Amino acid sequence: MQGLGGGQGQGGQGVDLDFSHGGPYAPPAGARYGAAPPGSPIVRHLIFLTLGLILSSLARADDRAAFFRVASRHTPAAHPEPAYHFQADLLAAEAALLQRWPGRVSVERVGDTVQGRPIWAFTVRDPGHPVHHKLLVFAQIHALEWIGTEVALDFLVEVAAHPPPGVAVTVIPVLNADGRAKVEFDLKAGDDVYRRGNAPNVDLNRDFAVNREATAIWRHLIPRRYATSPAPLSQPESQAIDALADRERFDVAVSLHAYGGYIYYPWAGLWERPPDRDDFEALGRVFEAGMTTRTYRTQQLSRWAFFFRGHGMEIDHLYGQYGTRAFLVELTRTGRSLWRPRTWKPRFRIYNPEDPQREVNRAVPGLTALARHLGGLTPPGSVLTGACREARAPTPARPPSSGEPR
Ligand SMILES: [Zn+2]
Repeated sequence: MQGLGGGQGQGGQGVDLDFSHGGPYAPPAGARYGAAPPGSPIVRHLIFLTLGLILSSLARADDRAAFFRVASRHTPAAHPEPAYHFQADLLAAEAALLQRWPGRVSVERVGDTVQGRPIWAFTVRDPGHPVHHKLLVFAQIHALEWIGTEVALDFLVEVAAHPPPGVAVTVIPVLNADGRAKVEFDLKAGDDVYRRGNAPNVDLNRDFAVNREATAIWRHLIPRRYATSPAPLSQPESQAIDALADRERFDVAVSLHAYGGYIYYPWAGLWERPPDRDDFEALGRVFEAGMTTRTYRTQQLSRWAFFFRGHGMEIDHLYGQYGTRAFLVELTRTGRSLWRPRTWKPRFRIYNPEDPQREVNRAVPGLTALARHLGGLTPPGSVLTGACREARAPTPARPPSSGEPR
């Protein structure tokens, strides 16, 4: 797929195939179009383009076959959290969706985890409309936050049934598949373990490249809060998100976490306001307006508390590196309930309510509103509604962190 959505700020580096623009593929000035010899750059380029399209559709067919092979090896069985999808349930639901909407829902293996588990991305597009905007929703960067996957899956089912015209919606229900597998194992064994990282226990949401350096003076007082991974993009799971974002140049991205009830936007690692704050605020309102009950609050992440900074986080990376308007949504106000003592102790309940459906019903309309909003924009419109658009300053490039390898 080409970078059709790239056009905003620094993210506007999508593949430009329009010859008339004098882009990287433009013929030299004065070139004659009528009689291009077979060896001319235009013909060669068209041949490569066609070959590329054929190869990428073959790769997609391969991924689909691989997905069904993996899914067929898992049989849903009874488990201790019947309201949640264990891996076999998840694969079965995703397989059913692919079979129900062929030509509308596709699957791609966008990477592999440390332990070799595939990372699956599902993309919904209405074949009747050319794509003018792209939305990415991904969940479960943190091992114990299963509610995000429930929301992502339900959102995928919703957009597959009612695809917003002109919007390619990509959903990754599980990014940290190794961490999730450990939690699944714990639950089946009756063990109560707090887990956040991937297989080697790296916090994937401190592994990104933008805003990794701690500058706040509070870092001397509470250094553990300012820790990052060993090196930028050191893990295959974060590399998978980075490579996908680089290729697709999503207009908007949402990373699903728990808990809090917030719609956070960058910067997470800097106190200063992001240059596109108006965009973030406007898009946050779109999400909020889509919700019907217990609406989440839109806020810049570093402003959560005066001492809080998150370094190497996904939203700063997607925004700083690719111009994507990236949000971190904290689902639920905890899965624990004062009125249900059995929810007080299990760590799984910190993030995941006994009945996930109530939170799913709350969050999915917010995500759907965001997707519809992008669908309603006139191509190649910005992610904002017209009025604020003129006032919006372009996104400046974030320089690489000083002293940090990229
Ligand atoms: Zn999280």
